[in-house]
This record gives sequence, structure tokens and C-alpha cells, in this order.
Amino acid sequence: MRRVITILVTALSVTIAMAVPANADGLDDVFAKLLVKQVKGTNVAKHLQALQDIATAHGGIRATGTSGYDASRDYVANKLRKAGYKVTRQPINFVESWAENAPPTLALTAPSAKTYLPNEDFFTFQPSPSGEVTAPVQGVDLTLPPTPTPTSTSGCEAADFAGFVAGRIALVQRGTCPFVTKVQNAAAAGATGLIIFNEGQPGRTDAFPLDIGEWRGGIPMVFADFAVGNELASTPGATVHLKVDANLVLGSTDNVIAETRFGDPRNVVMVGAHLDSVTAGPGINDNGSGSAAILEVAEEMALYPVRNKVRFAFWAAEEIGLLGSDQYVGSLSQAQRDRIRVYLNFDMVATPNYAYKLYDGDNSDNVGSPAGPPGSAEIEQQLAAFYGSRGLPTVGTDFDGRSDYGPFIAVGIPAGGIFTGAEGIKTAAEAALFGGTAGVAYDACYHQACDTIANINATALDVDTDAIADSVARYAFNLRSIPPRVAPATSRARFTPPTSAFLDVLTRTGGKDTFR
Ligand SMILES: [Zn+2]
Repeated sequence: MRRVITILVTALSVTIAMAVPANADGLDDVFAKLLVKQVKGTNVAKHLQALQDIATAHGGIRATGTSGYDASRDYVANKLRKAGYKVTRQPINFVESWAENAPPTLALTAPSAKTYLPNEDFFTFQPSPSGEVTAPVQGVDLTLPPTPTPTSTSGCEAADFAGFVAGRIALVQRGTCPFVTKVQNAAAAGATGLIIFNEGQPGRTDAFPLDIGEWRGGIPMVFADFAVGNELASTPGATVHLKVDANLVLGSTDNVIAETRFGDPRNVVMVGAHLDSVTAGPGINDNGSGSAAILEVAEEMALYPVRNKVRFAFWAAEEIGLLGSDQYVGSLSQAQRDRIRVYLNFDMVATPNYAYKLYDGDNSDNVGSPAGPPGSAEIEQQLAAFYGSRGLPTVGTDFDGRSDYGPFIAVGIPAGGIFTGAEGIKTAAEAALFGGTAGVAYDACYHQACDTIANINATALDVDTDAIADSVARYAFNLRSIPPRVAPATSRARFTPPTSAFLDVLTRTGGKDTFR
């Protein structure tokens, strides 16, 4: 703490000595250079060792719902409090366990009676809560008859529910976006139950057991075959009785949120990293690295007279579906969202066979997902400029919502960040740029027990911590490069973040086709 004060005073005298004009005062530049000098890879490594020790003391993991996560949460909260931050714990929910007590019921009660066969015509959609409802069915943007190849976007956009009558059971067709998006939109529209049916192409007609793999607020829901959906859709005045009997146990855990005492609360610079590991290992690169790096940045800048409020977030439950960040964003009013001018995300920043990848906020790579909300391009450019100043190359990585920035861009908050690679394979071109080994994974221990303190590249950790410090300090003093938020973004439709759980489903089923 004392060291910080000393340096701070020096920096202020330097600023005064330079006699920079007030309007272009250059404080961003001064404090960015200062913070980059202050942050140390060796300090980050100490935090990583602490997280490793926590894992070791708690069965080798730091996953959501385990004592290893709780100890990690307490560790960062204590450090932040000691540094002088206002620290809060935000409770969030996740699925602790789910079991079906009895087969579900789905029956047409009007205009005629017909009972469908559970676990054949339809299945409970995991993790559906228990519930029983009899209500009219309303189709949502259905494509019937189905097109020869999958095209249905039923329920993918909130606008699909524009004419939906609250209290009814939503009838939604599989296709295009993750099931979880359809579930969220139906629940938000006031549906009391949800029937999602298979889209109807060859190979996409049957019902089968499905698991969203995450918790997003629930109404009783089932997954039906195409024939059931088609019949309900073509029966005017269809009313059904829907019943799910399951035991859903929700667990509770916390995000850790820390805010600077100084700074304009109408202009918030938000900086996040997920703190939870998977259940397979200690998660030191994924994502002890991002957590430890932003913790070091937070500690070193704690006493800066920042112009904009800086808010650090250590997310829970990223690995089980971005639940911490999603529930955080969901808890904010539109006005609170509008005050978050940028969101910076750091998830894996010290990968052994690393590449310096920046989220492709401007979609200049033209692969995968579209560009991020306005301002995302500028964040990418600012990060790139830092590496450029060191003579270091960067490459883009698709802005696909695969980490905690997903819920932010989904509501129109510009975002950016650094990623040094996960299970993907390093290309020859990247090996030429960054060194390391082409043809093997960036992180051969991704989501495994060997993601330990030994799974950290010290060079990448050091450089990336500097890059984080540089960008956080610049935005803390100067947000002029970020365009003002024009209209409240309603863009769930445009940015549908896939999730880690989504990717896990891909792994389990061998193809995204099964999931979407
Ligand atoms: Zn991660």
C-alpha cells in the first residue's frame, strides 16, 4: 500500500511538471505507463500459487458449488478489501442436482382428447422444474412444413413472442439458436409451459432426452417429436395438459464485485474474469490466470484518482453456462447497463503454447459471429496498440460469446479482451508469429487435472498483465474513443451467446446439430 502511494505522488508531480493542458490532459497515458510499470508477473504468480494451494487443499478443484470455489472467492474478496475496494458478493443460482420423479404428461384436452406417450413421443427437458399446467397452446414463429434443410428460428428472438399471450403454453420449433435461448425468451414472454419439438427434416424428427446443461430460470418444459408439434400446431384451439415431476435443487454461490471508491459512477469501466474451475482440475490457466492478473491490476491501481468508476468482477459458474455474468447482467436495470461503457474480459491469458489473441470486436477476420456492439472495435484496437508498442503481434479470435462477455454484448455493451488459446490447435502461421509448437493444442491441459501451476507460461502472463493494466488505466481516465450508447440495445436476437455448457453438449453428442 505504501509503495503505491509513493509512486502515485511521483506520477502526479510528473504530470504537473509536464504542464499538460487540462482538456487533453494525458492522464490516461501517464497512469497507463505507471500501472504497467507497477504490475508484476511475479505478483500474479503469487496469486496463482495461492489458487493452486486452495485447489490442493480442496480435493484438487475450484469448481462452482465446491469448497474450493468458496475459498477462491474469499481469497480475492479479502485481497480486494485490503486494497481499499468496496467489495460485494452477488448471490447467483446454479443447478446442484436434478432428477425426474415420474414420467412427464402431455395430453391434448381440447378440442379433442389425446394422450401422448412419455419417453417416446416426448421427454422432460432437463433441468425442467416441476410444474403442472393446462392452457391453450400458442405456436411461436413456426416453419411448417419444415424447409428441406434446417432454417427454423422459432423462439430465437424476443420479437417472436410479440403476439404471445402470457399464461399460454409456448410451442416452439427446434432450430438455429441454442435451446437455452428459446427457453429464456419463452419464460420472459410469460409462457407457463414450453413444448419444443424437433424441426422435421430427416434425422430431426424424433424426441429424445435433452439437457440444457445450465440454469436459466424455469417453466415446465418438454422436448417432443416433430409429429406431436406438427399436430398441436395444426389443431385450432388446442389446449394441453402439461406436467413435469422432477426434483430440481438449486445451489447458490457468489460473484465477487469490487469497485473503486473514486470515479464517475455514470461511466463504468468493467473488468471481469471467471474464478471457477471445471470439476476435472484446479483451473490455474483456465481461469486462475485471468483472475490473478486482474486481481494484481486492481491491487496496484487501488489508490488511483480514476476519472471513471472501475468495477472488477470475479465470476462464478462460467464453466457451467456463463451463469455468474448472465445473472449479473440480468440483475441490472437498463440505466445501470447503459452506465457500463466497456466490458473487458480475461479468460485464459497464460496458456503454455500461447498466441496473443484479441476478441475480434470489429469482425475484421470475417469468421463466425458478427462484430460486437459499437465500441468493441475500438477496444480491440486499443489492446492491439499495446502489443504493437512492444513490437508483439496479435491475431483475432472469433467474438463468439464463449466467455463472460457474451451476456454483455447480448445487451449491447461493447466488449473486448485477451485470450491465449484453449483446446484449439496452434497453426504454423501462429507458431511463426509467437513461437511455440504448431500442430498441437495451445493448452494441452485444457479442462483437465493437469491445468496446474505448471500449466502457466510466465512470458504470456507477464505481457498480458501489462496489456490489461494499460487498457484498464486508459479507460479509467479516458473513454472518449468509445461511442456514446445510442439506444437501449434489444439485441438478444443479434447476439446469441453460445456457452461453455453448449460446447460441453457438443463434446458429449459429437455435433452442434444435436444441440440446436
Ligand atoms: Zn475459462
